[in-house]
Amino acid sequence: MNYNQDMAKLYFRYGAMGCGKTMQLLQVAFNYEERGHKVCVIKPKTDTKNGTKLLTRIGPERETNFCFDKKTDIFKEVLKNYKDVQCVLVDEAQFLTPEQADQLMMITIKLNIPVMAYGLRLNFRQKDGGFEGATRLLQIAHIIEEIKTICECGHKATLNCRFLDDKLVTDGPDILIDDGKSKIEYRALCPACYEKYLEKK
Ligand SMILES: [Zn+2]
Repeated sequence: MNYNQDMAKLYFRYGAMGCGKTMQLLQVAFNYEERGHKVCVIKPKTDTKNGTKLLTRIGPERETNFCFDKKTDIFKEVLKNYKDVQCVLVDEAQFLTPEQADQLMMITIKLNIPVMAYGLRLNFRQKDGGFEGATRLLQIAHIIEEIKTICECGHKATLNCRFLDDKLVTDGPDILIDDGKSKIEYRALCPACYEKYLEKK
């Protein structure tokens, strides 16, 4: 097979919570639109706290083109309604099913539209297979890039950690619904600080 330089590519840009993934996604969307191109911005329905919008800690936000659940065929949806876009941008891509990650690849192959997926690489438990969507993207993406962020000690943070009432937790569901009873927080830590918190547990 001849490798075509102009072939659209599937990107997976991963980074811990708070590294600015959504901000970067919005910047990419802006750059396309500034040049008169259309984009399709999507995210999973599991991220319910923000409704159908993408929000950032810094401020900018934007409406999605559509939200997907585990049954959505993303390839078919893009083929039907967004064939004319120059780029598909996926937020919270760790929540894709492996099949949906493959559908993103099909968008690059069959429609020749680049797809940029942003998400976490690993869940807060730091084990047990993590997020299947992220795992699949790490296996198949043409280009894998890390968005770096800093631990509270100043070193590079690689782990996304869940804290409940300021205590590190290593068990629980992937998605924790905020019931208002305890403070749920995610912190990006380096492996050394993570070990320190584990020892304090
Ligand atoms: Zn640290």
